[in-house]
Amino acid sequence: MRFVIIGGGPAGNTAATVAASLGAQVTMIERDIVGGAAHLWDCIPSKALIATGGELTELDRARVMGLSATGQIDFAALRERVASIEDKLHTSVTSLLESQGVRMISGTATLLSENKVGVTTSEGEEVLTADAILIATGSRPRIPDWAPIDGERVLTTRQSYPPPEVPEHLIVIGSGVTGVEFTHMFSTFGSKVTLVVSRQHVLPTKDPEVAAVLEAEFERREVRLLKGARASSIRREGNSVFVDCEDGRAVSGSHVLLCVGSVPNSAGLGCDVAGVTVDAHGYIPGNRHCQTNVPHIYSAGDISGRLPLSSVAAMQGRKIAEHVMGLTAVSHRHLDYDKAASAIFTEPEIAEVGIAEAEAFAAGRKIRVMKVPFSSNAKALILGDARGFVKIVSDPATGVVLGGSIVGRGAAELISVLAVAVSNRLTASDIVDSLLVHPALSESLGEAAT
Ligand SMILES: Cc1cc2nc3c(=O)[nH]c(=O)nc-3n(C[C@H](O)[C@H](O)[C@H](O)COP(=O)(O)OP(=O)(O)OC[C@H]3O[C@@H](n4cnc5c(N)ncnc54)[C@H](O)[C@@H]3O)c2cc1C
Repeated sequence: MRFVIIGGGPAGNTAATVAASLGAQVTMIERDIVGGAAHLWDCIPSKALIATGGELTELDRARVMGLSATGQIDFAALRERVASIEDKLHTSVTSLLESQGVRMISGTATLLSENKVGVTTSEGEEVLTADAILIATGSRPRIPDWAPIDGERVLTTRQSYPPPEVPEHLIVIGSGVTGVEFTHMFSTFGSKVTLVVSRQHVLPTKDPEVAAVLEAEFERREVRLLKGARASSIRREGNSVFVDCEDGRAVSGSHVLLCVGSVPNSAGLGCDVAGVTVDAHGYIPGNRHCQTNVPHIYSAGDISGRLPLSSVAAMQGRKIAEHVMGLTAVSHRHLDYDKAASAIFTEPEIAEVGIAEAEAFAAGRKIRVMKVPFSSNAKALILGDARGFVKIVSDPATGVVLGGSIVGRGAAELISVLAVAVSNRLTASDIVDSLLVHPALSESLGEAAT
């Protein structure tokens, strides 16, 4: 099986490792860095900076613990730290791929036909013949035509690792996951932040109760929320930026950061030549096996137009590798996107899995909802941070856990318990009957499941 993979992000490199371990002859082409945008621009640097901001907040909290401490960001050290994390991850991914015998080519790939992939490298051109192809080319930040990005004061997330300086007053446009994470990050760095929110609350696709906790925290930190405002132009004058909104409102600051979604990297890939369908938005859709309309050409990760998460991209890559190698009959379990856990790395952290309470009500579905605040959790009180809650949604007839939300310290880790429950149809009693650690934040899961 000659398997050619275009793109070395989580989707591509996971598919490569798994397929090679199952005996495929794998070639993976990556034009930037193996690890993908996930390592270079998205998940890793953003969470590394958020961790630094988190430490600054911890210093503030140290006062509650009876300590006195102050902190200041050392930008050179911060840059080095992010680079060193990326380097370690890059080395670990490439070593794994090498150990499985994956051929990695540094270059740009295009489809030449259903079975041929052309590669342009610094040394010249090469044509590869494939029995199966995976398109895993990812996405990049969306830049509307009214946004004159200059990398200095008008930025996308990709120019923020870290930005040239801590903005005095940052205007963040977009209040989805990326917008709120960067709002959080810069407010912990000491920037004054204005968040332009197009709807009436932040995180419009999430549980409103969850969004409310985050809004309260933003307000406590004096983040200004400009609600119901759609940005329509950005102007830079000297060291100031001006953002105008469709309804006539305007806001000025020192920097502006655009967080208005992403666009797929499908242009120039040669999908038309290979007969692969690209939808109106540039995504390459696939069926439940991630096969495109050309059955031996697959798409995975952000380019597939499914949930844009590294974890989902990697899982798609794994499932595709198994499908390519014919493992479907025995062990193949279809990917259920509705059961993917996700997290928002703000403070407090937010994590969700499965069905949300509001979604179930809207669908008229009978559910049982149990909610427990962390203020009754011993460990949360010991840690001096009892914000947030655990909410578990279950089926009232069977007790099967259908979903849950966690807001609070460690939410991104704690949600794993509910993710395992949702994926495996465990019941609330299964959680209650598990002997958990005391004192621990996870005890609130047992309490909410009772
Ligand atoms: C700011 C930000 C933070 C995020 N944080 C998280 C997070 O905490 N957790 C999470 O799960 N998700 C997070 N995401 C989402 C996550 O980064 C993406 O879902 C993930 O990177 C998608 O993986 P992928 O394999 O599809 O693509 P990518 O990681 O984008 O990799 C695609 C690769 O393909 C290469 N490529 C493209 N075209 C070609 C070509 N023609 N030839 C050769 N190579 C090519 C690109 O260079 C790139 O390296 C975040 C996104 C953003 C924007």
